[in-house]
Amino acid sequence: MKAELLYEGKAKKVYRSTIDPNKLVLAYKNDATAFNGKKKDTYVGKGRLNNEISSLIFPYLHECGIESHFIQKLSDTEQLVHETKIVPLEVVVRNVATGSITKRLGFKEKTLFSPPLVELFYKNDRLEDPLINDDHALLLTDIRTQELREIKVKALEINTALREFFQSIQLLLVDFKLEFGRLPDGRIVLSDEISPDTCRLWDIETNQKMDKDVFRLGTGNLILVYEQILQRLEARV
Ligand code: 5GP
Repeated sequence: MKAELLYEGKAKKVYRSTIDPNKLVLAYKNDATAFNGKKKDTYVGKGRLNNEISSLIFPYLHECGIESHFIQKLSDTEQLVHETKIVPLEVVVRNVATGSITKRLGFKEKTLFSPPLVELFYKNDRLEDPLINDDHALLLTDIRTQELREIKVKALEINTALREFFQSIQLLLVDFKLEFGRLPDGRIVLSDEISPDTCRLWDIETNQKMDKDVFRLGTGNLILVYEQILQRLEARV
């Protein structure tokens, strides 16, 4: 179902669909990277796990009224999505302080953000994805003021929906990164992936980190942790 390779990123390959040229096939890779590509490894099964997990999350978000590029899971490692032009912004939502915000602004680890905090980063490998403000985002991308407002509101709605979703499998949604893309008709929708690669998830009982930090910090077996998340999701009623 996939033809021409359009783009290869760190975690996914993007192909044009042979069946419908307006649609794309995302193929999840087994590669793991961190610290802007400085740390790299490959884990057999990672692509399948992220594809399975994000293929459960996007339909849940659709049920919650959140439109996205996702259409359907195609195979173990592939999903069919609407073609979008990615807005080069990483929209990060934080419920609890950890990661870059503790280093950048000195927040004490585990400080609760209530209301949750929304941050914008410029998606640019060469510049190492710097933190930017709204005015920078309007200059660096083609989004309009009203669209930026809507993206931030949407990010908070997604946070509310995802917190509940992960709470139902005993995980605290600490923070996560979203990307948005523009459809051919001009609308901006949620794109890319939502998975333990892009979220921080802590076990509610044990506080165990169950996300890509296991790889970033080298503290455990990424595959075992992602398997556990998928098992919990599959057992969810
Ligand atoms: P931080 O800014 O603390 O490094 O990351 C905040 C949240 O956004 C974390 O959940 C992290 O996984 C996610 N995130 C930020 N940037 C990236 C990125 O470039 N790739 C991925 N996979 N996740 C990111």
